[in-house]
Amino acid sequence: MYVQGCLAVDLVFDRTVRLRMSDQLALCGGIPVWRGEWPAWPQVGLRTSSRLEGVLVSGRWAVSGSWTGEPALDRELSYRFADFTGARWCVPVDHGSSALLAALIALDVRPGDEIIVPGLTWVACASAVARMGAIPILVDIDAETQCMDPQAVSNAITSSTVAILVVHLYSAMANMDAIQAIAKRYGLAIIEDAAQAYGAKWNGAVAGSLGDVGCFSTQQGKALTSGEGGLVVTSKEDLRDRIEMLRGDGRRYSSGPFIIGEPELEEQTTVQGWNMHLSEFQAALLLDGLERLEKQNKIRTAMASRLDETLPRESDLEPIRPYPSNDQRSYYHYVIRMSKDAFAGRSVTTVCRALTAELGTWIHPTYPPLNQHPLLDPRRLPTRRESAEKENDKYDLTRFDLPVAFREAQRSILFHHSMLLGDERHITAICDAFDKVRRCANQLPAEPS
Ligand SMILES: *Cc1c(COP(=O)(O)O)cnc(C)c1O
Repeated sequence: MYVQGCLAVDLVFDRTVRLRMSDQLALCGGIPVWRGEWPAWPQVGLRTSSRLEGVLVSGRWAVSGSWTGEPALDRELSYRFADFTGARWCVPVDHGSSALLAALIALDVRPGDEIIVPGLTWVACASAVARMGAIPILVDIDAETQCMDPQAVSNAITSSTVAILVVHLYSAMANMDAIQAIAKRYGLAIIEDAAQAYGAKWNGAVAGSLGDVGCFSTQQGKALTSGEGGLVVTSKEDLRDRIEMLRGDGRRYSSGPFIIGEPELEEQTTVQGWNMHLSEFQAALLLDGLERLEKQNKIRTAMASRLDETLPRESDLEPIRPYPSNDQRSYYHYVIRMSKDAFAGRSVTTVCRALTAELGTWIHPTYPPLNQHPLLDPRRLPTRRESAEKENDKYDLTRFDLPVAFREAQRSILFHHSMLLGDERHITAICDAFDKVRRCANQLPAEPS
């Protein structure tokens, strides 16, 4: 109904005509460029159901259940995932947030200790630190990767610094050479949050295996998922031991041999923890997903490189530029940055809404920089609520200045990795949507400058 008569006469289906047909933005009542489906996420493979049914009838739903003649799937998962990352050990846990907490506790982080955290990341990175009573020290990011800037890390070190919590954000790895050098120089631990970087590589080493502890989330949106869940990897035996007991209320796998009906875990008396076990259903889902992960990573990387090449016109859109040592990328979100006048000066929020309306799937800005995050107000922390105002100043994250994170958040357009698992039509749709919103940007509501 919005097709103009003159154009409908000789419909040659080249790209220009197809685009001109719908010169009204879907957000303003026009025809969307894409009304088809997007690849499903999470994905179900040929063996997913039978694996879950296997657990269902096995009589063993929990790590803490009894020996049935077979080891827990949790154990198999830990071997497979350690292997995937190249770390010596893996301990599955119930959430990515628990992985971070377990890492902090295992490293003996104490109240008042300072942990360096990137200013642009998921809120759980800073709240895990705050929950320990430790102080998240926010540092700015480097613009090209949107990961923590090593120079800013260096500048933030004090005599109270104990660890660097590095996050590989969206689709790029942080500069691990520089971060490892800083950690070494000052004797700091590295917690590597690789929840968004499954299978990414730095000089051939897999993300998660480059620090003292690597933390992963297997929440629904992540590239390896069990709905909820997490994984910790480490090559340090003492950390592995502590994390295994932390997640098991002090219990850990006994070395056997077992008789049917006997628990596979045995009680220990050294580490007080809580129950952070992953269920056997979740372990089954992860073993299943792990078989598809590398193939999916390849498809996503190929699709993303095509978008990196195709989306920019002149220099109005700018892809992420990873460090050369980040020799294999993996995607949690695809990110592209808009120049100031790419979309007639409209804000990233408005542009994202217009793209969402064209594509029928969520296109969105980055996380808010953590110095602006309302949940990190110390008065909202259970551990800080009773403290004197003055004491709380140290935990007040609004005191950090994060100009690069702020600027990048104002101009970054993101979408989920599952959109990279489609085919040619999906790539064309994404390019068409960007072209159309660029061309028709002045239809968008103007914003105060
Ligand atoms: C998802 C995510 C987490 C938190 O994981 P949950 O499983 O949701 O607790 C932590 N860090 C990063 C970088 C994440 O993307």
